[in-house]
Amino acid sequence: MQMDIDSQSKLSNLTNKHLDYIIVGQGLAGSVLSFLLEQQGYSILVIDKGHQHAASNAAAGLINPITGRYYTKSWKIEELIDSARMIYGEIEQHLGCKLWYDIDIYRALHSIEQVNDWALRSLNPDYKDFAADAPNDHVYRGVVNDSEGTALIKGGARVDIGLFIEQYRSYLIESELLLETGFDYSQLTLSTDTVNYGAVSADHLIFSEGYQMLNNPYFNYLPLAPAKGESLHIKIKDVEIPHNVMKHQQYLVPIGNEQFWSGGGFAWKYQDSAPTKAFIEKYVKDLGQFINHPISIVEHRAGVRPCVKDRKPLIGTHPEHPRLHIFNGLGTKGTSLAPFFAKQFVEYLTGNGDLLPVVDITRFS
Ligand SMILES: Cc1cc2nc3c(=O)[nH]c(=O)nc-3n(C[C@H](O)[C@H](O)[C@H](O)COP(=O)(O)OP(=O)(O)OC[C@H]3O[C@@H](n4cnc5c(N)ncnc54)[C@H](O)[C@@H]3O)c2cc1C
Repeated sequence: MQMDIDSQSKLSNLTNKHLDYIIVGQGLAGSVLSFLLEQQGYSILVIDKGHQHAASNAAAGLINPITGRYYTKSWKIEELIDSARMIYGEIEQHLGCKLWYDIDIYRALHSIEQVNDWALRSLNPDYKDFAADAPNDHVYRGVVNDSEGTALIKGGARVDIGLFIEQYRSYLIESELLLETGFDYSQLTLSTDTVNYGAVSADHLIFSEGYQMLNNPYFNYLPLAPAKGESLHIKIKDVEIPHNVMKHQQYLVPIGNEQFWSGGGFAWKYQDSAPTKAFIEKYVKDLGQFINHPISIVEHRAGVRPCVKDRKPLIGTHPEHPRLHIFNGLGTKGTSLAPFFAKQFVEYLTGNGDLLPVVDITRFS
């Protein structure tokens, strides 16, 4: 990718500037990471091309502590939630906007077997903070079609990822810390103790390109398995629901202004990253069977999740270039994974800690 003239001139304005970190990508991963680096006093430059179908633009920002068919706790969920609550709280203060919402999730149970499995789960002391029976008068009664029963998942959260990325981008622009362009790999030169990108030099360069890591000549050997998803912002007429989430085959997530986020879908093969007519046709039909009220569509988005074959993040240092790093592979759970692992990564980069071996890219060397 060649740089445009405007970016080229912005880059040359930075001549003779030596930075601590250059971060490529301002999705959820790059935003949380660069925020933490700057908070710790490091000088940064973020480079992002504003890809419309980045996963972060389509995400609901949910942190769901209990997932899957067997109602199991998400990996490291207690630690991840604590870290997420703290770091998004710091970001809220820094940007002056509300991002974090504590939520309960109502999950439909479709058979007696599921009702029984959930009853057992909610009796398990290890799950006491997260699993309970839903009250009969819960907020979704009458809004959605009845199922065999409803599970109540407590202790979840929703983070307004869209607002975070937008507000943080404005902050970076005002502070002249963002180069709005595609990264041109041909302008990168490496030595043992520095990286040079055009006229800028830095101690380290970190790639957080989401699924577009596939185009990165330094890291595309890693086993990314991108999964496209699509989402809708819908209006349900005459229904007002606070911050609870309903999960059936689809999610219904209140996002304010009488609107709900709804979506999902996992396409491992897809033509491009744009929203499709096929998704909307099928999804709206399915929603019609689930929701008892008329709906209207406000917006349709799509994004590609940077999933990894072993479902763990891709973090660490290039095996041959000690100044090149990656913070990626957040898959389906970026909202909870980004803060905990960005903090751990900063500790690792600054010589104050280690990476968990299961997330370290040396597992693929
Ligand atoms: C429909 C859908 C729903 C989801 N719901 C949830 C949810 O509820 N909860 C949850 O935790 N996760 C959810 N996810 C997953 C979540 O979105 C991802 O884990 C997360 O957003 C990944 O962030 P990222 O920064 O790694 O990648 P991205 O969001 O893709 O960001 C990558 C950034 O890098 C930039 N970039 C890429 N290449 C270059 C380049 N060469 N030069 C310059 N810039 C570049 C792009 O412009 C982009 O801004 C969902 C995903 C989808 C698609």
